[in-house]
Amino acid sequence: AQRTAQLRARAEIDLAAVRANVRALRERAPGAALMAVVKADGYGHGAAACARAAVGAGATWLGTATPQEALALRAPGAGVPADVRIMCWLWTPGGPWREAIEADLDVSVSGTWALEEVRRAARLAGRAARVQLKADTGLGRGGCQPDDWAGLVAGALRAEAEGLLRVTGLWSHFACADEPGHPSIAAQLARFREMVAYAEEQGVRPEVRHIANSPATLTLPETHFDLVRPGIAMYGVSPSPEIGTPADFGLRPAMTLSASLALVKHVPGGHGVSYGHHYVTPGATTLGLVPLGYADGIPRHASSAGPVLVEGKWRTVAGRVAMDQFVVDLGGDEPAPGAEAVLFGPGDRGEPTAEDWAQAAGTIAYEIVTRIGTRVPRVYV
Ligand code: PLP
Repeated sequence: AQRTAQLRARAEIDLAAVRANVRALRERAPGAALMAVVKADGYGHGAAACARAAVGAGATWLGTATPQEALALRAPGAGVPADVRIMCWLWTPGGPWREAIEADLDVSVSGTWALEEVRRAARLAGRAARVQLKADTGLGRGGCQPDDWAGLVAGALRAEAEGLLRVTGLWSHFACADEPGHPSIAAQLARFREMVAYAEEQGVRPEVRHIANSPATLTLPETHFDLVRPGIAMYGVSPSPEIGTPADFGLRPAMTLSASLALVKHVPGGHGVSYGHHYVTPGATTLGLVPLGYADGIPRHASSAGPVLVEGKWRTVAGRVAMDQFVVDLGGDEPAPGAEAVLFGPGDRGEPTAEDWAQAAGTIAYEIVTRIGTRVPRVYV
């Protein structure tokens, strides 16, 4: 407590919650391996710490977007056991593909640009790349179009015959798994089955076939295949209000964001607050200064809307969120010096949740936790 009191602000990360969430997700998908998605610094929670926690709870794969994120997890300091498979899926030209192959990463390939570059990198590395072919089954983002699939599969099999790669996986990603009953879910699943069946008929022998993100892991058992790939749910955050609350699935939010109030002062009624004076005190009151701003990931769109718990009461951001600070109207209360403002957490101490902030800012809870900035120290509890 003494250590955290010295910090302006902190994001406490409850690694026991991450472990419990991973176990809860494994129970939802008992026949599948679990890939813990730790891209974007573990959705803001710290990639290496969350990766170790997830592996401790039974995850056998880690997933990242960029190869740099994946290579960082292979570095000895990350503490990830060498037998844990790590996959990265954001292919970009000129990336560190030789290093990725040398570090035994599984690399996603969606088209011929990537296939050719991975083949060249494998020649340089002198060993076969682990390649997972990605199908666009309807997301319309990355992935190989169904019409181009035969060509990609043939190219991958040729490279496999040359000893330049091994196709370790066939995979895809959902567009609307967080909207229960959305017709695209069944359509994507059917297309995935067809594209997998075609590749296997041609002689591809994948170790894993996978398509399930958090909402699919939680609610669509028919999508689990050999491996599930949850991200947001392992941090205890719900993929969407339509899917349910974290508690509905036995998940516990891992991040609590708080700051010590930097100033409390009395002001008269009619006092304009923060840039643009979008808030004017309705009467004499006290204002509290929270030393966090949009540079720390507090959304400016939550101006006059974001909720904060101070000494047992919910207060609202008064006026605009600035770069490094924002103000709350304390309604005449005078908290003790250094009193804590809790922006969000699991909610069981009466504090708001990341979902509440998402609603206040017109965004998704993913963005709230992921954007908490590097000035905010992560404190592992
Ligand atoms: N798989 C891929 C390819 C992703 O890009 C993501 C994240 O967006 C995930 C899995 C995890 O998704 P979620 O956080 O919804 O579980």
